[in-house]
Amino acid sequence: MRINVLNELRQPIGSVTVYDLEEPALRLEDTDVSSMSGTLTLVRTNRGLLATLRATARVSALCARCLTETDCAVAAEFEEEFIPVLDANTARRTRLSNADDGFRIGPDFMLDLGEPLRQYMLMLEPQKPLCRPDCAGLCLTCGADLNIVSCGCTPMSDERWGVLAGLDASKKEGS
Ligand SMILES: [Zn+2]
Ligand SMILES: [Zn+2]
Repeated sequence: MRINVLNELRQPIGSVTVYDLEEPALRLEDTDVSSMSGTLTLVRTNRGLLATLRATARVSALCARCLTETDCAVAAEFEEEFIPVLDANTARRTRLSNADDGFRIGPDFMLDLGEPLRQYMLMLEPQKPLCRPDCAGLCLTCGADLNIVSCGCTPMSDERWGVLAGLDASKKEGS
């Protein structure tokens, strides 16, 4: 998601531009993001542009119970300053120190939302996504998807659950 911001950078400090964002499909490293929709607000600062994103999107994740791929709704929101490496009026290199945090706008004056999006999406990805709230999950004995078939296995006895719980506890001690 790259936007040419040469015009915005030529505006006086305080100028505001609002973009509507519609991105049907986007790949951020190993995360598929779809149906992103929202607004991007760019405010001219003394150093560059303050970008505020307010969007909703869907990311693909594996259901925590049945392991099928499923779509989860996420809110993508961030506010980050982008600093150009070239002055938009003179095309001279801007003086940047390492203390200037924030994202850079390259010499092509394209503002790239990909990296901040990737960082925020990773934080936002749901911990326990479910394909649906009442997902039946996989049979613990034969691995059948209980949403599709009923395998007829007898549910695990309390004793075997106890063994599993014990294994779990010992694993935690070991790590
Ligand atoms: Zn599921
Ligand atoms: Zn089974």
